[in-house]
Amino acid sequence: MGFSLSKQLNKAAKMSACSGREGAKVVIIGSGFAGLAAASTLVKGGFKNVLVLEAKDRIGGRANTTKPFTENVIEVGANWIHGQIGNPLFKIAKEKNLLSEGLPSSESSEDYFFKEDGKPVPNTIVDQVNTLFSNLTDKASHDALAPEHQDLTMGAYLDDAFGTSPLAATEDGRQVFEWCKRNECTDEACSSLYEVSASQMSNYTTLEGDFFNTLGPGGYRAILDVLLKDVPSGAIKYSSPVKSIRWDLAKEGNCQDQRYPVQVICENGQSFEADHVIVTVSLGVLKEKATTLFTPGLPVNKLNAIKNLGFGVVDKIFLYFEKSFWPTDCAGVQMLWKEGPENKDVYEALSEGDAWKTTWFKKITGFDTVARHPTALCGWITGREALHMEKLQDSEIRDTCLRLLRSFTGWSVPAVSKMLISRWGSDSHIRGSYTFVPDGVDGVAAHKALASPLPPKDASIGKRQLQVLFAGEATHVNFYTTTHGAYLTGIREAERLKSYYTV
Ligand SMILES: Cc1cc2nc3c(=O)[nH]c(=O)nc-3n(C[C@H](O)[C@H](O)[C@H](O)COP(=O)(O)OP(=O)(O)OC[C@H]3O[C@@H](n4cnc5c(N)ncnc54)[C@H](O)[C@@H]3O)c2cc1C
Repeated sequence: MGFSLSKQLNKAAKMSACSGREGAKVVIIGSGFAGLAAASTLVKGGFKNVLVLEAKDRIGGRANTTKPFTENVIEVGANWIHGQIGNPLFKIAKEKNLLSEGLPSSESSEDYFFKEDGKPVPNTIVDQVNTLFSNLTDKASHDALAPEHQDLTMGAYLDDAFGTSPLAATEDGRQVFEWCKRNECTDEACSSLYEVSASQMSNYTTLEGDFFNTLGPGGYRAILDVLLKDVPSGAIKYSSPVKSIRWDLAKEGNCQDQRYPVQVICENGQSFEADHVIVTVSLGVLKEKATTLFTPGLPVNKLNAIKNLGFGVVDKIFLYFEKSFWPTDCAGVQMLWKEGPENKDVYEALSEGDAWKTTWFKKITGFDTVARHPTALCGWITGREALHMEKLQDSEIRDTCLRLLRSFTGWSVPAVSKMLISRWGSDSHIRGSYTFVPDGVDGVAAHKALASPLPPKDASIGKRQLQVLFAGEATHVNFYTTTHGAYLTGIREAERLKSYYTV
C-alpha cells in the first residue's frame, strides 16, 4: 500500500496542477440529503464536473414526499425536522418559508390510550408514566446514568429505574411503560430496547427547539428542491444503480493522457471515471453490498463498523377513510397490551424461535392522525416485526389494522378506502430506515470509521490523495438517524474536497 500511496500522491499533486477544482471529476452515489448537499456545495464551490448517480427514479432517498390520497402530501419516510437551533434544514425551511403554519396544535389534541379489553386508560396515569419515561431517557441522553446503569441495555436500564416507581405497582402503569418502550423503538429504529446500548444514547445530540417541526404543504420535497436548484440539470442520472467502485487505479501518463484513480460501473454496464467518488448509500445497502461493491475491498475497520452498527426498520401504515371516526381532540389511538413485546419476560420468551411472527401486530404502537389529512391515520411499526409485515399482502395488513382499531376502541370503524404501506426494509436501495448503536458497540469509533475516506490514512504521509469519500446519515457521530445529519455529512465531504484543492 505504501508504494501505491506514494504513487498516488504524485498523481494528486499532478492532478491539482493539471485541473484543479474546475477540472476534477466527482461522482456522487445517491441523491438523498447527503448526496444533494454534497452536489450543491461542490457546484457552488466551483466544481464543474459533478455527476450524481441515483439508483431510483427520483431524488430524496429516505425522504419521500408523495400524494397518494389527495392533493396533499404524505411523507413515506422522513416527516419532521428534529430541533431548531443549529439545525441547517430548519434554517433553510424557515428562510424559504417552507414550515407549516396553521395546523391544529398538538396542545389542543391528545392521544387516546386503550387496553386490549377495550377499556381506556386514565390520562393521569398515561401522563405520569410518560413524564417519568422521558426523564429516564433524558438521563441516558445527557450522559447522566448512574454507574450501575452504564453497562446495561436501554431496556434493562429503563426496567431497573422504573421498577422503583410506585407506577410500576399498577397494571395500567406497567402497560403504559411497555408502550413507552415500544414507542422509543421508533426513535431508535431498533427491534427492541434490549438490543440498544444505554450509555451510547448520549452520543446522539438533540438540538434545542421543538423536536417535531412539521413542514408546509410541499413537505420534505420542498427542501430537496432548494438543494436541487444548485445542481445543473442533467447532472443527476436516475435509475442508475452502481454495481462496482474500482479505486486505487494507478495513474499513468500525464495531464494530456489522464487516467483516473476511480472507476464507477453501473448495473447497466455504463462506466464513469472519476478523480473522487462520494458514496452516500445507506448503511443498510453497505451491510448488504460492501464486500462486493468495492475493489480493492474496504479496510477491516470500515467493514467492522458496517457490521457492528445497527440499521433498523421503521415502517408506516397509512389508512385513508372516507370520513373520520375519532373525536376531534384525538391525536392518535395508542394500543396497550397485557403482554406487549417490550415487556422483558415476553421479549426473552420470544427471543428464540418464530412465535413472534404470529403476534407481529403487537409491535404497532398505535395509529396517529396525519397532518393535512383529516380522514387518515398512520400506524407505526419497527424492527423484525416491521420486516415481517413487509412480506404480507396489503389486504392482510389492512384487515389486521381494522380488527385492532375496532377491538381496542369499540368505535364504529368504517372500511379503509385507500392505503399506503412503506417497505423500507425490502427496498433494495435502502434496506432499512436509520442507524442505531447496538449494545456493546462503540458508536463514536464506528461512525468515524465509516466516515473516513479511502485510501486509508498513512501516518507517514502528509496530504493524501482522496479517492472514495463517505457521507450519509450513518457517518455522522452526533446526528445519525436524521435528515440534518445526512445533509451535514454531504457538506462535510464536499468541504473536504474543496480544501483538498485549496493549496
Ligand atoms: C420511515 C422513516 C422515517 C423517518 N423520519 C425522520 C424524521 O422525521 N426526521 C428526520 O430527520 N429523519 C427521519 N428519517 C431518517 C432520514 O430520512 C434519513 O436519515 C436521511 O434521509 C438519510 O439521507 P441519506 O442521504 O444519508 O441517505 P438516503 O436518503 O438513503 O440516500 C441514499 C441514496 O442512495 C441511493 N442508492 C442506494 N444504493 C445505490 C446504488 N448502488 N447506486 C446508486 N444509488 C444508490 C438510494 O436510492 C438513495 O436515494 C426517517 C427515515 C425513515 C425511513
